[in-house]
Amino acid sequence: MEKNSETALETLETDVIIVGAGPIGLACGIACIQNNLRYEIIEKGALVNSLFNYPLNMTFFSTSERLEIGNVPFISHNPKPTRDEALEYYRRVAMHWKLNTRLYERVLTLEKNNEEFDVMTSRNRYHAKAVIIATGFYDIPNLMHIPGESLPKVHHYYKEPHNYYGQKLVVVGAANSAVDVALETWRKGAEVTMVVREGEIGSNVKYWVRPDIVNRIRDSEITAWFNSSLIAIREGEVDIQTPEGLITIPNDYVLAMTGYLPDFAFLKDAGIEIGKDEMHTPIHNSETMETNVSGLYLAGVVCGGLQTNKWFIENSRVHADKIITHLLETRIS
Ligand SMILES: Cc1cc2nc3c(=O)[nH]c(=O)nc-3n(C[C@H](O)[C@H](O)[C@H](O)COP(=O)(O)OP(=O)(O)OC[C@H]3O[C@@H](n4cnc5c(N)ncnc54)[C@H](O)[C@@H]3O)c2cc1C
Repeated sequence: MEKNSETALETLETDVIIVGAGPIGLACGIACIQNNLRYEIIEKGALVNSLFNYPLNMTFFSTSERLEIGNVPFISHNPKPTRDEALEYYRRVAMHWKLNTRLYERVLTLEKNNEEFDVMTSRNRYHAKAVIIATGFYDIPNLMHIPGESLPKVHHYYKEPHNYYGQKLVVVGAANSAVDVALETWRKGAEVTMVVREGEIGSNVKYWVRPDIVNRIRDSEITAWFNSSLIAIREGEVDIQTPEGLITIPNDYVLAMTGYLPDFAFLKDAGIEIGKDEMHTPIHNSETMETNVSGLYLAGVVCGGLQTNKWFIENSRVHADKIITHLLETRIS
């Protein structure tokens, strides 16, 4: 859906460029409006593109008021909102605040020149006093790096269960996404085998879902190999290293729910240093959200590096106000 420019590039002047129209990018745009700053939110896909790509029947673990931004109430018909409700909500937020979103436009490069930023996108060139990177972590799957991973029957994203009816499925992982996929596909008629590196289902799995998966495994309705790894995938079968030795089982599809990674290359190209800690945390000041490049900020889940369960919508909405406060104090008078 990304469009390529067919016209000559123009340079647009603004105060703040926000990269990514996820919930936190939108919150940053609202904070700009509230402080009379000029801004553009540039998004390579649809509005809240990560949420748009979540499983169709996905339910948030947060209650709706914790996903609110910009003082717009989020009314959900369920204790926990669904993907559809969240899409409706963030569309309403964007309409209510008349947010400047430039959709289907990818930010390609950021360059700092004379204390200001040149931002090159797939359609335009911008000149800004500050840049906020709110690019999330949902675009790059954490690969298993095993033979057969690139076969068409292997998926790192899951949309819906229907096409898996009557199929032999291997689900890799034991965190929320893997558990949701295993339960939903099993309930819609797939034969599900879970391959789990750890010794049990993840302790962070939603508390109201965990007993369901534990019981399905206990009752042998879903097979689970714990302390095990998928080591090779071929048409029609897979190899699993288990505590009982190497086994080969028949297989139609592999759903590798092994998590996702922030775009470290994009961050590094922008001049942001990546920490030497285990989580590769991009360097930023947690009070101001400013990176090692002055005037360049991080917001939302991208701040956690590999620790993708540290920041959520509910606890990173505050990044927007922190950034704009610092910006007003330092760069924009
Ligand atoms: C299955 C699932 C369930 C979740 N449930 C919850 C929950 O219940 N509660 C909660 O608080 N959090 C939840 N989270 C986490 C939450 O959805 C994410 O934390 C949220 O989307 C983060 O918002 P964000 O704005 O930081 O990043 P994102 O929503 O990921 O937005 C980043 C945006 O940047 C865009 N982008 C990336 N690179 C570029 C580029 N170069 N140029 C232009 N645009 C770019 C992307 O397309 C994307 O739209 C869940 C996550 C997942 C995966």
